[in-house]
Amino acid sequence: MRLYTHAACLQHDPGPGHPESPARLHAVLAALDRDRFAALDRIEASRASVKALERVHDPAYVARILSSAPADGLRRLDEDTLMSPASAEAALRAAGAVTAAVDAVLSSNASRAFCAVRPPGHHATGTRAMGFCLFNNVAVGAAHALAEHGLERMAIADFDVHHGNGTQDIFAGEPRVLFASSHQSPLYPGSGGVEETGAGNLVNAPLPSGTGPAAFRQAWEDRLLPRLDAFRPQLLLVSAGFDGHRADPLAQWRLDADDYAWLTTRLVEVARAHAGGRIVSTLEGGYDLQALAASAAAHAAALMD
Ligand SMILES: [Zn+2]
Repeated sequence: MRLYTHAACLQHDPGPGHPESPARLHAVLAALDRDRFAALDRIEASRASVKALERVHDPAYVARILSSAPADGLRRLDEDTLMSPASAEAALRAAGAVTAAVDAVLSSNASRAFCAVRPPGHHATGTRAMGFCLFNNVAVGAAHALAEHGLERMAIADFDVHHGNGTQDIFAGEPRVLFASSHQSPLYPGSGGVEETGAGNLVNAPLPSGTGPAAFRQAWEDRLLPRLDAFRPQLLLVSAGFDGHRADPLAQWRLDADDYAWLTTRLVEVARAHAGGRIVSTLEGGYDLQALAASAAAHAAALMD
């Protein structure tokens, strides 16, 4: 399995006290250390091309993000989304990690990849930065797979505790992409109701505050995994957010690292059945450093099995 990351992703810094801190990625990379994860093929992420970004983002939005990193200090794009001097470079590398990983798994150089990157992406819409996200990394990767590799069917599984509103918004009318999400509801950003089905290609499983392992697994077992399986995706992308962990400060679920390992194994089964085992996973949320590190390691280990 390949691990894509880049030093710039450690330099994007939305400011003191912000939960989406560089320490998050330091914790993930320390957990994926060379002893326990010696078999990982470690790759420096390239920059996403403007062409790749413009498949899902408005050209004016791409230009604005690429020119908005301040020379020093911070620039605020919305209530909780800020740019520091390294942010545009980090955003390019984060999206570029996913497109490079898609190229690698579709050219059979690897069957699976994990992109340990930030800023996260799944809240960014075609025209708007929000929820700590600048470019929608998983959406850029998905659109790249459709355009450059001619896929007919691909799926995005999003298990971040927040709804991936940006990804849903971008692909709501795209029948080649199935988007399947579990998320806490009500919670930021407020979307993700079961009635939001797009062109029949969105499957949302909103679950209440307090959701624990049994209800989480049941939602995937009964509602999301069967849809993924029936869709027969040729490639599976994963928005891997670990903020449903019981220790996470931004949400109120009660999951453990084991639950992420369980779901990852089930996603690997779907990929093996239909996609030649091909999965590209990219880091989204997760704000308790210990829980994030343990959960990301459990996810990566299950992807490697
Ligand atoms: Zn989240």
